[in-house]
Amino acid sequence: RAKSLGRGSFSFYVKELSDRATHRVEMEMRLRRAIEMGQLEVFYQPQVEIASGRIIGAEALLRWRDDERGYIPPDQFIPLAEQSELIVKLSNWVLEQVSRQGRLWLDQGYAPLRLAVNLSPNQLRNAELIQHIDTTLQATGFPAEQLELELTEGTLMHDPEQAAERLNQLRKLGISISLDDFGTGYSSLAYLKRFPLSVLKIDKSFTRGLPQDLEDCAISRTVVAMGHALGMTVLAEGVETQEQLEYLRDLGCDVYQGYLCSPAVPAKQFVELLSPNDKR
Ligand code: C2E
Ligand code: MG
Ligand code: MG
Ligand code: MG
Repeated sequence: RAKSLGRGSFSFYVKELSDRATHRVEMEMRLRRAIEMGQLEVFYQPQVEIASGRIIGAEALLRWRDDERGYIPPDQFIPLAEQSELIVKLSNWVLEQVSRQGRLWLDQGYAPLRLAVNLSPNQLRNAELIQHIDTTLQATGFPAEQLELELTEGTLMHDPEQAAERLNQLRKLGISISLDDFGTGYSSLAYLKRFPLSVLKIDKSFTRGLPQDLEDCAISRTVVAMGHALGMTVLAEGVETQEQLEYLRDLGCDVYQGYLCSPAVPAKQFVELLSPNDKR
């Protein structure tokens, strides 16, 4: 591409590339420092059982507050961290925070909440993953039955054999697995049944069109039916309106997550969303 545009644009192209590389190195340095200086925080977004309206769990979402740049969204630094071993450090940290927080809520008398943590593709490939998760759960006393790991289709399809093996090991520990952003990848349905999945998460790009967009309606209806046929819980992401919720309720969708209930918030604010009878 650059060549056909002539010399001037070629050097421009090179400069742009090296700027990007500089940006990457600089961001990586900042991120390392952020971890050390405690500028990362785990936020929690409620997951609501549609039939009862009760908050039954939360998804843990990472937040980075940088003094100079302000809030940096995870989509801007997680892919970056993925390119180095930084992702392992980062993910271990998230898992520890979540396990500790989950244990604390139990000790404070809250009814058991299912807490979901996102797993990056590289983490599933990491041979030490299972051992690390097990050790963290033991050390914090957070029950494996309350931990859920979110994976995407891409993560599973990279090496389906290995993924299936790892997921089976996690299941044996009592951990449940959910398939995130379902419908945006290109996994075949035949493959899906090979993985021990507990939850299917309908991607928010489909939820958005409900109930006006006929295709989004058809896709959501199909995912709910298929998930249930395979014995899975179906959760809709990105629910922002009452109309979307009503449509999903009619479909028999089990759980929802979205701004209609709350965005991801700090742990302290999260418990304020729980109803008083969630405390035993
Ligand atoms: P995801 O796992 O699919 O998370 C859902 C994203 O949708 C979150 O964005 C959440 O804030 C956003 N969201 C929730 N409700 C609504 C809604 O009603 N409307 C709209 N428009 N958006 C909604 P966020 O927090 O920016 O996270 C983006 C992605 O970053 C996540 O996608 C996940 O893939 C990744 N991520 C976040 N935290 C972690 C982490 O600790 N580890 C790893 N590996 N990835 C993470
Ligand atoms: Mg997720
Ligand atoms: Mg998602
Ligand atoms: Mg995503």
